[in-house]
Amino acid sequence: RAKQEQKGDWLYLDASEQRLSVERQQLLADIRAALADNQFRLVYQPKVCLCSGQVIGVEALIRWEHPEKGLLSPIHFLPALEHHPLVVDIGEWVIDQALRQMTRWDSEGLALNVAVNIAATHLQHPDFVARLAEALASYPHIDPQRLDLEILETAALGELDKAHSTIRDCERLGVTFSLDDFGTGYSSLSYLKQLPVKTLKIDQGFVRGALSNSDDISILRGIIGLSQAFDRKLVAEGVETMEHGELLIRLGCYDAQGYAIAKPMKPEKIATWKSQWRPYPEWSAGEQVTQ
Ligand code: C2E
Ligand code: MG
Ligand code: MG
Ligand code: MG
Repeated sequence: RAKQEQKGDWLYLDASEQRLSVERQQLLADIRAALADNQFRLVYQPKVCLCSGQVIGVEALIRWEHPEKGLLSPIHFLPALEHHPLVVDIGEWVIDQALRQMTRWDSEGLALNVAVNIAATHLQHPDFVARLAEALASYPHIDPQRLDLEILETAALGELDKAHSTIRDCERLGVTFSLDDFGTGYSSLSYLKQLPVKTLKIDQGFVRGALSNSDDISILRGIIGLSQAFDRKLVAEGVETMEHGELLIRLGCYDAQGYAIAKPMKPEKIATWKSQWRPYPEWSAGEQVTQ
């Protein structure tokens, strides 16, 4: 820990130096072995325009196909990786896998934009930009503009100036950034003004609450206003029902993700989903009202 907090340093700590709990050390060892054994998978969840039904892209979400415990969602293993160098190995695997999948989809005529989640510790690695450039160079047919990196406010806040310059350098490569779980972090408005992210993703908590809680509606209105003032795109997370979508359209947020549209799915399911997916008629009607 002490070393980790030294300025300008990154984490050269290994598990023994970090004096981790026995359980966490075991989990980290298991994760490392699972990575080598190819037990991780990416599932993909569509992002769409609620009114037109247009597919904006898909978000890659990691899963662990554990030989004994079954399919594990990230909550069961990502927290153990926090502040640990192994998060970089996982993160690089995710980026490579997503680019590979895009190539595969491209060859099937499905040109999809893909978003990947980037952990704070990974973004802060001194080689992040160089390694991202290398990954992109390995897939020369993929336009980097089609890759979006989702970061949490807390990740961007870590070391402010450094995060800014990392984000700018990545944007020079062509990739874009989204601020995930927006509204749950601590960023001040002056900070948001400076942060070069293209998209704000409204945290699903506000969306879920908005049908029954007027405070959450006010928050949604506020975030929608902010996105317009700062000229950022907006995507709502956690659209679980037709009514959530309807409310968002009424408030002026048109792009969304959630179970009412599609659950995260294996990549080979996306083509069928895309050919069958239609927005609720109530959503399409919203478009005419706003025109
Ligand atoms: P996130 O990036 O905010 O992703 C959204 C989470 O909400 C996903 O959970 C998704 O399955 C879930 N979700 C989507 N629509 C709905 C809905 O309508 N209702 C509800 N209740 N949930 C919905 P998941 O896949 O378990 O991922 C949880 C978090 O783990 C993600 O939150 C992200 O922060 C992190 N994560 C996932 N994959 C990766 C990864 O490859 N790398 C890193 N660093 N983090 C990841
Ligand atoms: Mg995300
Ligand atoms: Mg989120
Ligand atoms: Mg989240």
